[in-house]
Amino acid sequence: MPELPEVETIARGLDAAVGGSRFRRIKVHREEAVRPAEPADFRAALRGRCVERVSRRAKWLVAQLDDGGRWLTQLRMTGRFTWGPVSPLRSAPHLSVSFLMDSPTGVLRFYDVRRFGRMWVVDPEAWSGLDERLGIEPLSEGFTPDTLAAQLARSKAPIRNLLLDQRRLAGVGNIYANEACYRARLDPRRPAGSLKPQEVRALHAAIRKVLSAAITRRGTTFSDYRDILGGQGGFQNKLEVYGRDGQSCRRCRGTVERTVMAGRSAFFCADCQS
Ligand SMILES: [Zn+2]
Repeated sequence: MPELPEVETIARGLDAAVGGSRFRRIKVHREEAVRPAEPADFRAALRGRCVERVSRRAKWLVAQLDDGGRWLTQLRMTGRFTWGPVSPLRSAPHLSVSFLMDSPTGVLRFYDVRRFGRMWVVDPEAWSGLDERLGIEPLSEGFTPDTLAAQLARSKAPIRNLLLDQRRLAGVGNIYANEACYRARLDPRRPAGSLKPQEVRALHAAIRKVLSAAITRRGTTFSDYRDILGGQGGFQNKLEVYGRDGQSCRRCRGTVERTVMAGRSAFFCADCQS
């Protein structure tokens, strides 16, 4: 599932491709991609609108429109955009929505194998309501060791679980939460409220470092994630613990272990994370 670095990479790609471009025609091939809206209403909300810029908020793609509205997309498990010249479609399995764009002219297509992805259009008020409910952006200036300390304080929840809470910290998912704990030498199972100030500082630095490094490498590709030109990410080669259970820790030669917390795998080295 795409997390902050993958969605950021796609947002930048979309911004470069369709920033300044106008929707000429929209075709909804699968209605569930735009639910609960009616496909006709979804098309009407975008037709003729210009995309001013595309950015990311949490794990959402946010396209700002020239009428102040936002076209939002949640990629979820397998949602994926492609951008290319106008061309006839021979066959298009898993195509959910396509957008014919003007100046520059091209076709943006949204594919979704597992069909969990969703897109919708909101007015400025509805957008600020949604935005307010999301947690702080971990790469923003406002996210400091003190902010993190306040979020962790008094919580008995394991650190890893707390890092996944989108109302606290926006965009961090299971891959980068595990990687950040490893880089900070913290056992992901520890109660969040038990961290000492220097451990909070180490975790804060690790979160920012791992997310920035992953953006530089255009994200992590295990299976489905691709950028809008079909390229894979490169961060899967840099993962220290995620998906490496049974292999040796690159820092201490201990063994990377896997456990399940809150229904999802957690990965850590019991020898050098405490
Ligand atoms: Zn180790």
